[in-house]
Amino acid sequence: MNGDTPVDQAADLPPGTTPVSSAPRDARAGLPSVDRLMKRPEIAALITAHGRSLVLTVVREVLAASRPQFATPDADPTIDLVEAITAGLQTLMADSLRPVLNLTGTVLHTNLGRAPLPPEALEAITRVASGASNLEFDLATGRRGERDDHVAQWLRRLTGAPAAAVVNNNAAAVVLLLNALALRREVIVSRGELIELGGSFRLPDIMSRAGCRLREVGTTNRTHLRDFAEAIGPQTALIMKVHASNYRIEGFTAEPDERELAALARSHDIPFVIDLGSGTLTDLTRFGLPAEPTPEQALANGADLVTFSGDKLLGGPQAGMLVGRTDLIDRIRRNPLKRAMRCDKLTLAALAAVLRLYGNPERLVERIPALRQLARPAPPIEALAQRVAPVVARWLETRAQVTVASMYSQIGSGSLPLDTLPSFGLRIEPLATKRAAGSALGRLATELRSLPIPVIGRVSDGALWLDLRCLDDEAAFIRLFESAAPS
Ligand SMILES: *Cc1c(COP(=O)(O)O)cnc(C)c1O
Repeated sequence: MNGDTPVDQAADLPPGTTPVSSAPRDARAGLPSVDRLMKRPEIAALITAHGRSLVLTVVREVLAASRPQFATPDADPTIDLVEAITAGLQTLMADSLRPVLNLTGTVLHTNLGRAPLPPEALEAITRVASGASNLEFDLATGRRGERDDHVAQWLRRLTGAPAAAVVNNNAAAVVLLLNALALRREVIVSRGELIELGGSFRLPDIMSRAGCRLREVGTTNRTHLRDFAEAIGPQTALIMKVHASNYRIEGFTAEPDERELAALARSHDIPFVIDLGSGTLTDLTRFGLPAEPTPEQALANGADLVTFSGDKLLGGPQAGMLVGRTDLIDRIRRNPLKRAMRCDKLTLAALAAVLRLYGNPERLVERIPALRQLARPAPPIEALAQRVAPVVARWLETRAQVTVASMYSQIGSGSLPLDTLPSFGLRIEPLATKRAAGSALGRLATELRSLPIPVIGRVSDGALWLDLRCLDDEAAFIRLFESAAPS
């Protein structure tokens, strides 16, 4: 099998290197040369698959990393090296970004990619991805077109806004509107709304980065219309309201009504803008979900401009929508930052496909996966948990105990922070001594993440919880555990 003998290794060292002789044993003495490795049949197969230069790089990397480990010249390390090279190439060529099963109980999980897309969106992406499209080309006139128009007409229809624009995400939409409408001027915001969203998006910092001055009014728990009225001056560019998305202030609270704020802004000829955060284009209470304001309502209450996300409750791709007054949207579209924040064709194709689904509100829940998962009632989730529990238990053997348990899911992505959805899933408790329980739990979570499709649960109260609300493909889940060897 192995023609290499460690005897002639010194001759195989790369040119320019001399064996180190000071150590009791030369660490390199046991290693075959790069050339010798490259000639092995296993490596030749890798070269056919991946190309010579990539294999050569990995061979060098593996050799460099292996030197200290092969200090015994009697053992032939070639087999191990070939294995390490094969594994190294496999890791290098594998997708880093890959599907996982989100069983955390947080439906719109930012770290796990938020909303799953409906098939209509995937098909729309495929149609335009591989070739040319009329992205910015008006097929009727043969002249230049506007990329946002592919979604703007649907946004206008669904929100009642006269104009719309779209950028990469809602954070970008907020930065863009501030820069376009309030550069070097003041934006009045209630102290109760100076929020930090995940990933260091802090409203006060965003304001200064966008080139505007924040004018805070009121207090954390109570802000009145007169606070806004007193703050208005020649430097005021905007009155802004930020929808409380990831927190809630309760108790002795007050905030002015949107209509009153809109009227105040109008009487001073100042635009009133609302960052809705999630926003939804449909009445969520129809699906048994908590109420969430819609852009349509915000505009009807007198907002001049509203921004919201594409991949939160809307259930589409990552995007940031701006809808409202035509003159304001025009200023936003002309701002040079818009060019830096524009959506690509794949996003626009997916977003347009999702928005078209909103044209038929009756069938939304069955067609938009995020809404389907959110609206899923507890009883079928419990039945699913009963069916899959024995499969997971078999895979775990004697390492842990699996029970079907009731739990609560969260909507996630800062939507409706305190509202939780009754759900069911598996509670997995490691069978370990009390002292070893913590590390056993960590190992269990790691094992589930190491499955061919990583399973991501939630660790809490000494157990790993798998909330099955977001498990769509029961058969694939069962296969995953039945085909995975117990580790
Ligand atoms: C989520 C959120 C944002 C940011 O939206 P992204 O689409 O994640 O960039 C901005 N404002 C509010 C109030 C939010 O809830």
